[in-house]
Amino acid sequence: MASSDVIVPDESSVLCEGCGYTLDGLPTTGQCPECGRAIAQSGADNKRKLPAWEDASLGRGVLWRFASTTAEVVFRPGRFYQTLATRRHDRAAARFAQLHWALSAALFAGALSIHAFWFQRYQVGPKLPGGPWVFWMVMTPITYLFLWGTTRLAGRLTAWEAAYRGLRLPLPVVLRGLYYHSAHYLPVGLMGFATVAAYYQAVRWRWLSEGTAERYLVVLCVEVLVLAGYLFKTYWTGMKNTMYANR
Ligand SMILES: [Zn+2]
Repeated sequence: MASSDVIVPDESSVLCEGCGYTLDGLPTTGQCPECGRAIAQSGADNKRKLPAWEDASLGRGVLWRFASTTAEVVFRPGRFYQTLATRRHDRAAARFAQLHWALSAALFAGALSIHAFWFQRYQVGPKLPGGPWVFWMVMTPITYLFLWGTTRLAGRLTAWEAAYRGLRLPLPVVLRGLYYHSAHYLPVGLMGFATVAAYYQAVRWRWLSEGTAERYLVVLCVEVLVLAGYLFKTYWTGMKNTMYANR
């Protein structure tokens, strides 16, 4: 693909929300010449709005707005990104992400701590210093920083790739989308933590023999792959429904 003949549409251009065609200069009552979608749907009747998290006019508390937006992102990601106002650049979306990074960092670090201290019983050689709680408290901020760094990196790579392909996805817009995507870490963190904690308890209470460890590791590996695929798929849903956004 030749990047030299690709031009990213200007921020002031109106794109068809359906196919990305530049609608500048066309009558607003007409239809997109490329896909037939009503032009008003991309311009005047654009459905993009602030998510509940940012909408203080709902008269709801911050916890309700956090939970409501989390549920929207997790259960209806396509619809969420089709109706997300993408051109708002304050700290609100970042704060949403910070809460989710903290929640899922605690879950990931918890799973890691249980897993590590359970399995080092079978290992010879140097042991982890401190107990599982100390390990958890150290690993939680490290995991948080890892999620933050991964998001920044994914944002830069996405904006770079999009510009190369002529898509209007500047870094602040990509990051805003990724900040809301962080809600998808919650089901992933819960699944991972539940699997590790449930297995640990099942062996401790002798519901399962220690001979099942290998099968447990296989299940855990498959789960990691499936959850990584889920995170990628939802990321793609988010970007696909953002790349022709006009507001
Ligand atoms: Zn179109």
